[in-house]
Amino acid sequence: MALIVQKYGGTSVGSIERIKKVAERVQKTVNQGNQVVVVVSAMGKTTDGLVNLAKELSDNPCRREMDMLLSTGEQVSIALLSIALQALGQDAVSLTGAQVGIVTEAEHSRARILEIKIERMQRHLAEGKVVVVAGFQGISQSEELEITTLGRGGSDTSAVALAAALKADLCEIYTDVPGILTTDPRIVPEAQLIREITCDEMLELASLGAKVLHPRAVEIARNYGVSMVVRSSWSEDPGTKVISPSPQFQSLEGLELTRSVDAVEFDANQVQIALLQVPDRPGIAARLFSAIAEQCLDVDLIIQSLHEGNSNDIAFTVTREMSNKAEAIAEAIAPALRSDPQRREEAEVVVAKEIAKVTITGAGMIGRSGVAAKMCQTLADAGINIKLISTSEVKISCVIAAAELNRAIAALCNAFEVHSSPVRSWTSEAQKVPAVRGVALDLKQARLAIRHVPDRPGMAAAIFNLLAQHKISVYTIIQSQHSRYKEAKHTRDVVFTIAEEEVETACTALANLLEELDCPPILVDKEIAKISIVGAGMIGQAGVAAKFFAALAQEKINIEMIATSEIKISCVVPKQDAEKALQVAHTAFNLAGQSTITVPT
Ligand code: ASP
Ligand code: MG
Repeated sequence: MALIVQKYGGTSVGSIERIKKVAERVQKTVNQGNQVVVVVSAMGKTTDGLVNLAKELSDNPCRREMDMLLSTGEQVSIALLSIALQALGQDAVSLTGAQVGIVTEAEHSRARILEIKIERMQRHLAEGKVVVVAGFQGISQSEELEITTLGRGGSDTSAVALAAALKADLCEIYTDVPGILTTDPRIVPEAQLIREITCDEMLELASLGAKVLHPRAVEIARNYGVSMVVRSSWSEDPGTKVISPSPQFQSLEGLELTRSVDAVEFDANQVQIALLQVPDRPGIAARLFSAIAEQCLDVDLIIQSLHEGNSNDIAFTVTREMSNKAEAIAEAIAPALRSDPQRREEAEVVVAKEIAKVTITGAGMIGRSGVAAKMCQTLADAGINIKLISTSEVKISCVIAAAELNRAIAALCNAFEVHSSPVRSWTSEAQKVPAVRGVALDLKQARLAIRHVPDRPGMAAAIFNLLAQHKISVYTIIQSQHSRYKEAKHTRDVVFTIAEEEVETACTALANLLEELDCPPILVDKEIAKISIVGAGMIGQAGVAAKFFAALAQEKINIEMIATSEIKISCVVPKQDAEKALQVAHTAFNLAGQSTITVPT
C-alpha cells in the first residue's frame, strides 16, 4: 500500500462538476489500494476575488487580515471535496492547516513552513479516511496561533511539504495543463511535454514553469527527495516526472529553509579567457564558440556585456586542461573580429590562469532582493576582488583569484549560514540526459548597464546594496572583464536586469554612487527580452552554447548580453526578436513535437 499526496489546483476544483470529478479520481486512487492525502487550492479565481474585495476597502490592507480573508478560499474547497467523497461512499475528513499542525513563521502573506505535525493525519489515514487538507495556509508558532498563508500559488508548497513530512511514496500535482512543457505553446505551437525533468532544471526554468509548479515546492522536493509528477486533472496521461536526488534523511524541523541560500559550491579548476572589443553584431558569439566547439572544448561560464560604441567584451571559462587550446583558438580568431573595419584594432585576448569560481545556490533567492548584495558585500568585507559575476535564477557565480578561494568559501558559508561542507561544482555525471530540456522567455525585464566601475573590492556590493535597500530584485547580473578604455584606471562594467517598472527607482537609487565613482550615466534598455536554454545535459558537453548562438545568428538576431550557470545559458536580445528567438532556439535543440498542446489562457 502506497501513501500518495495529490494536489488539485484552482481550476481543477473550479466548479461542483469538477469537484465531483476530482472526488472520483481520489476514490479510484484509494480503490487501487493507496492511502491518499489531498491538498486543494481555492475554487477557480476565488483568491483573486477575495483580494479585490479587500482592495475595495483599502489600498493597503493589513497583511494579517488578508491572511484571515484569503485562507477562507481553501476552507470552502476542502469541505466541498470531503462532502463529495462522502457522497461517493468514501470516508473522508477535511482539515485546515491549523488543524493538521502546519506550523509556519509568523510572516503574514509569505510565511515559510517550519514544521508539519503528522499524527492527526496518520490517525485518520489508519481509520481508512481520505484526508483533505487546505493548501496555502498554516498557523504561526506563536502563542496567538495566527492564521498565515504561504504566498500566492502556495498550495504546491503545502502538498510537497506534506509529502516530505509523511514520507509519502509520491506527490502528484494535478493541474489544467498536461505537465511541464518545453516552452510557451502560445508562442511556439510545436512545444511539447517534457516527460522527465530534474528539480535543478525545473528551478532554472522557473519563469517557464512557475505557474505550473511553485519553485518553493520544487526546492522542498529536492531537499527531501520527494518523488513528484505534474499531470492533467482531465486525462490519464502520465504527465511530467520531476526527478529529485535520492531521499536525504534531513531533519524535518525547519522544513522550509528560511534562508535564501542552501549551498556554496566552487570550482578551482578553471581558466578565464576574455576577448575584449569584439564587434556588436549578430554572429560573433556564434563564430567564437563554434570554433571552440569544433575542438570539442566544453566551456563553463560565458559572459558577454555591452561596451561603448559598437563593441562587446566576451569572457568565458574552461577547465585548466583545455585552456591552452582555447586560448589558441581565441588568438586565432581575434584578428578577424574587428569592431571597426576602418581602424586597425582587433579584439584583444586576455587570459587569467590563477582564478577560481565560487557559487551560491538556492531557490530561496528567486524574487528576493539583497542576496547578490550580500554575496558581494561578504566578499568585499573579506577584501576579495570580484573579477566576473554571472547569475541565473537560482545561482550567483563569482570568479575570483584562486589564492582567495578558501577565504571566500569560509566567508560565504558563514554569511549565509551554510553548515554543510561546500561542494565541488557539477561534474559530467548527467551526460545521458538531453543537453536542453526547455527554453524560457522573459519579456518583463529591463537591462541596466553601469560602465567604468572601478576595479576594486566592494564596488558590486555598493551597487547591489543600494538596489536591495529599495527592495528591487535583480534577475540576471553580469560583471565583465575590464575595459581598456580608461587606460590609467582599471574599470569593469556591471550589467543587470530588473523588472521594467523598477527602472526609475533603480536609477534614482544609484545616482549618487555613480557620481562619486565618476561613472558615465546608466544605460537603460527596456526593449529587451531574455531567452534561456536549460538542461542538465549541457554540463561537460561541447557545443551547446555554440548551437544556441548560431541559431540566433542565422536569424540575424543580435545578442546583447550573455549570462550562464552550469545548466542554463541566457541571452538578452532585442524585444522585437523575442518570439523568433524562442522559436529558433526551440527548433535548434530538436524540442519540437508532432502534436499540438493547447493550454487554457
Ligand atoms: N489559492 C492560492 C492562490 O490563488 C494558493 C494556490 O492556489 O496555490 O494563490
Ligand atoms: Mg498553482
